[in-house]
Amino acid sequence: MNKQERFLDYKKRVFSCRDCPLWETRTNVVIGDGNIDAKIVLVGEGPGENEDLQGRPFVGRAGKLLEEVLLENGLTREEVWITNIIRCRATIREEGSVRNRPPRPQEVQACKKWLEEELSIVKPKVIVCLGGPSAEVIIHRGFKMTEERGRWFKSVYAPFAIATYHPAYVLRQPGRAFDELRWMLSEDIAEARRRAESLQEEETEEKVIIPPPDEGGEQLNLF
Ligand code: URA
Repeated sequence: MNKQERFLDYKKRVFSCRDCPLWETRTNVVIGDGNIDAKIVLVGEGPGENEDLQGRPFVGRAGKLLEEVLLENGLTREEVWITNIIRCRATIREEGSVRNRPPRPQEVQACKKWLEEELSIVKPKVIVCLGGPSAEVIIHRGFKMTEERGRWFKSVYAPFAIATYHPAYVLRQPGRAFDELRWMLSEDIAEARRRAESLQEEETEEKVIIPPPDEGGEQLNLF
């Protein structure tokens, strides 16, 4: 099966998932989207209200900010892959209204196989974790955003992984804190782009084959 076929097969199965209780309250299963051949994958936490209604990741306010910082770095969402650690909206009923809540460990665990399958299809070189819960899954348990953001890690899911602030968290910051965290989010994406580009250059260099010298011809002295 090629990538497209694997993705179609994955879609068929994930859309009928009932492996955790979130299926009961979801409108849509929200899987990753973008460029299936992307070198960079961004992994958020889980769908919110807009994502649940539209069936696409990062289409609300946080998504708008994410698109802005991608654009600042010369990237569009069509060039990267954007996904989440869970695929159904996690909610809580409070005083008669329905609100988002962080995913529970059992929900993250139940959805891990779908995240892993997506990542094994896209096969990114670089993963950007948006927020702590994503970094805990992709990088290591107990990840400390304030100490470890912006650093490179090796992950089982990609040769390089970095974590940054979740756009929704950035949006909640008042005044100067907003400017600072927004800047860091954009810088970390810039760093991810630089890394992906330098890996691409290395790959291209490796593919340049030096032809063997003609018989009787002179071999180039490379030293
Ligand atoms: N926040 C996330 O983590 N993911 C989305 O898809 C939207 C908001």
